[in-house]
Amino acid sequence: MDKNLKEEKLTGLVKFTPPLYRQRYQFVKDLVDKYKPKKVADLGCADCTLLCMLKFCSCIEVLAGIDICGSVMKEKMHRLSPLPVDYLQPRERSLTVTLHHGSVAHKDPCMLGFDLVTCLELVEHLDESELKKFPEVVFGFMAPSRVVISTPNSEFNPLLPGVKLFRNPDHKFEWTRLQFQSWALENARCYGYSVEFTGVGHPPRGMENVGFCTQIGVFVKKCPETCASTQSEKPTEAVYKTVFEAVYPSLKDEKYLQKAVVREVIFTAQIIKQSLLNCLMSEHREYNDPTERKSKFQPSMNCFSEDLGKLVVEKSMESFVSGNVVYIPLATIFSFPRVNRLCGTFEKLRQLVAGQVTLSSDGSAVMLSTEHED
Ligand code: SAH
Repeated sequence: MDKNLKEEKLTGLVKFTPPLYRQRYQFVKDLVDKYKPKKVADLGCADCTLLCMLKFCSCIEVLAGIDICGSVMKEKMHRLSPLPVDYLQPRERSLTVTLHHGSVAHKDPCMLGFDLVTCLELVEHLDESELKKFPEVVFGFMAPSRVVISTPNSEFNPLLPGVKLFRNPDHKFEWTRLQFQSWALENARCYGYSVEFTGVGHPPRGMENVGFCTQIGVFVKKCPETCASTQSEKPTEAVYKTVFEAVYPSLKDEKYLQKAVVREVIFTAQIIKQSLLNCLMSEHREYNDPTERKSKFQPSMNCFSEDLGKLVVEKSMESFVSGNVVYIPLATIFSFPRVNRLCGTFEKLRQLVAGQVTLSSDGSAVMLSTEHED
């Protein structure tokens, strides 16, 4: 049975909502939202559920999972592959997701360079020799700015029905708060980290003295600049086997950027065209029937904000109709926030739309036909 499912069953009487494992994942997600790390590694990632959650964080560019059990990691790893929607709406930043098969007791160069390392419910699965090597691998070798370690708080166990010795038969030990804190403080001191303790899974009212069901230590590197030099002194050979790699489409890739820009340019041009035609129609009606005192035209679409609506009205005046073609200056389209943000410079816009949309002979305006319009 899945480890988290087992835990839910154990905690049947003390009901956690959301389930405890979700609260642990959310704890990490909140840290990511707060500190915006670019590179995150999850050690003991199991079926990659936390990684699946983190792939939606726009700040993350590199996401890696490591586990000693290849089969559990591969079971649902397809969830880490890009979806069709990822191609339709590419991310702003690049994202590479990799899974490595190996033990956290070993050093591998692929573990270097991470900002945040998470180890949820991992340490209690390590045997004595692995646990001994673990701090040197994580704090000494990987040396990220932040490390999150969660582990069961054994003081909570009497409140969990059916727990005899440990919560899971694969656990090699379960620590009291004091045991975890002294292990954590000793390693923090040794490797130049500070550590703060917290947890998830509140005890029932009146039993607060037992502490959280899951205890968590958040380690922060005291002087991040020293880690680069220590890392470079320790080249090692690759020992992990990479079992999965996915590169997500992103606007950093010219191909996807061009598609996004062309789509946005056509969309913006269509709105301006519609707005201009509405304006001409309303002026035409006013001219024929002077009693009709309509306020200046409004863009007919209400799918954008009032500010953007005003911008469309204003900008459509710079466009013009000749014959059955509407000319919308590229410079006008560039002044729209979304186009502007995507391209950065006017030159880039010109370069990206060249050959992709119909432009006037001097290349300064987008041409749209008025055919099929009244
Ligand atoms: N972090 C996950 C899974 C916790 S279960 C979660 O919170 O849901 C512990 C996981 O650690 C298992 O998937 C197990 O295979 C893995 N593990 C145990 N010993 C390991 C080791 N030495 N190196 C890497 N992973 C290990």
